Amino acid sequence: MSQTATSRVQEHIGDPVADDSAVDRGKLKEIFNDIQSDFRYDHELNGCLNCGICTATCPAAHYYDFSPREIVQLLWTENLEGIYDAMQEKIWACAQCYTCAARCPFGNSPGGLIMLMRETAIKHGMESAKNVLRPFSRVMLKLISTGNQLSPDMITADGFADWGPNISKIDAPLEILRKAIPMPTLNTTKTAWEVNLKTSVELYTIWEETGVLDQLETIDENLFDVITDIMDERRDDLEDWLEEQEDDED
Ligand code: SF4
Ligand code: SF4
Repeated sequence: MSQTATSRVQEHIGDPVADDSAVDRGKLKEIFNDIQSDFRYDHELNGCLNCGICTATCPAAHYYDFSPREIVQLLWTENLEGIYDAMQEKIWACAQCYTCAARCPFGNSPGGLIMLMRETAIKHGMESAKNVLRPFSRVMLKLISTGNQLSPDMITADGFADWGPNISKIDAPLEILRKAIPMPTLNTTKTAWEVNLKTSVELYTIWEETGVLDQLETIDENLFDVITDIMDERRDDLEDWLEEQEDDED
């Protein structure tokens, strides 16, 4: 009796979050190649004993259906479908504490590998990345346009109306606490968003050259438009200021 050869390799895998129902194998390979070709990959994955020490010490594994051992195994065995599947949800459970990296007997960094997977999810505009990052659009706006995100005196009821009455629990004590425990980086409470024009423009060049802006456009086009408008304005302001300086010198 003849038997037809079968393969357990899936040609298509469904995406439970996106509207597109199937992802072909070429796309799965492209995604894995993007993860694997990152220069950090070889430093962060040296092999895997499947010992589970990383998962045993992982705080996220304690609370979620998530295991760094499982993620590392997927990468080590180049399980393209499993990698794609994990990128839909599981990779976003990691707290990036790197306890796993400190404990792995192989010197792997599961947390670092997860970061590569997250960056790749953003690059490919996966729905999971969009969903996770959507609540942080205001932080991204400030971080990308000024280089700073929040300072303690900005955490106020007025500034965060959407946080509701709970803001009062951290509003007042934070300022007092920061004053009581001063740290150099927190001395900027009044000036964190007032960035020197030249510094701003240099920062924008970094975002452009490193591909941060391209990634932003992939995951949030509206925010990308707002930020590029701000960048254009600041660049114009700098040019005007430089022209004024030249006029003054003449
Ligand atoms: S990544 Fe390291 S700690 Fe985790 S299962 Fe593999 S060898 Fe063990
Ligand atoms: S970095 Fe992520 S995977 Fe590693 S121990 Fe922390 S939460 Fe777990």
